[in-house]
Amino acid sequence: MMDRKDILRNVKTVVIKVGTSSITGGTNTVSSRFMDSVAAQVKALKGQGKDVLIVSSGAIGVGLGAMNAKPKPKEVPIRQAAASVGQSILMQKWSDSFQKQGIVISQILLTLDFYSDREKYNNLRNAIDTLLSYGVVPIINENDVICVKEIDAMFGDNDTLSAYVSSKMDADLLIILSDVDGLYDRNPKIYEGAKLIPIVDKIDDSVLSMAGDPTTRLGVGGMKTKLRAAEICNESGCSMIIANNNVPDVIIKAVSGEDVGTLFVSHGAVSKKSLWIKAAHSLGTIYIDDGGAKALKKHMSLLAVGIRDVTGRFDRGDVVDIVCNGKLIAKGIPDYNSEDAFKIRGLRSDRVIEVLGHKTYDDVIRSENIVLM
Ligand code: GLU
Repeated sequence: MMDRKDILRNVKTVVIKVGTSSITGGTNTVSSRFMDSVAAQVKALKGQGKDVLIVSSGAIGVGLGAMNAKPKPKEVPIRQAAASVGQSILMQKWSDSFQKQGIVISQILLTLDFYSDREKYNNLRNAIDTLLSYGVVPIINENDVICVKEIDAMFGDNDTLSAYVSSKMDADLLIILSDVDGLYDRNPKIYEGAKLIPIVDKIDDSVLSMAGDPTTRLGVGGMKTKLRAAEICNESGCSMIIANNNVPDVIIKAVSGEDVGTLFVSHGAVSKKSLWIKAAHSLGTIYIDDGGAKALKKHMSLLAVGIRDVTGRFDRGDVVDIVCNGKLIAKGIPDYNSEDAFKIRGLRSDRVIEVLGHKTYDDVIRSENIVLM
């Protein structure tokens, strides 16, 4: 059995994601007691020389409470408005709690594109590094006033956001605080004998099948989004713990390797380039045949001969989807633009020069620029 203390020995940067249910205790207002306790625990971690970032949900829930609004499930503008009201209340409360510990906080509102847009990422990284060097605790939330898709809970949520933040900031541990104890082998709300899984060494299909659906109406995350977050973290070299906010000193316990919640162990980072390709927005699609797919699975390059069709408009260096039999199997950065890739589809490499009058590479996408999905 892996020892948590060993796994977490060298944790230096910790991201703590606080869910709406934790912040509000299931109501429409903020629980100052809970925030005070988070601030005190963060102070203790800083005393151990760790850097801490917080991803805080709750803006929408708290805003709805303050406005006394009860929107229907698909009413998005009221949630945007509530986020705008609730975010400032949230920050006031966080500020009160951290002031008691003598800690300065900052507010960062993000849209998920910081993950794939290099310039935004660099700007964010510089700002956060500077904040941390001044001992400030950044408090991050999604910019729900303009991120309508995220509010709609179809595409994103703070579980995913906190995983992206952890991945991009090279955090060593993400702690997701929620109203659940961790990952169970079956839904504990339905099955009495459900067992908590203390450590997940690898997120495979059997683990993924344990996730149920979102738990509360105020927050949007469920176990599914938490498992997705764990995958993102683990791939980037960051471990993740899901734990219940009701456990006293849960953050301190989690970081020091005590047996709380479920720990998803990272076995080291997949290359940054692969992560970037995976997350980047694709500008086109290259449809390939079974032979091409076989080559990709053996980590070989994509040749023109394996290409059936090309759609979209992309340049050399953009990211494209690679699809076989209707299934997205990989993404990659081609060395040919969409026009040329289309002209040489299905051709043997020695005929490329004949058709194009030039040849950059034998491969349409070199193996090092391909990431299997
Ligand atoms: N960003 C949302 C909020 O502050 C919460 C999203 C979530 O619960 O994950 O209300």
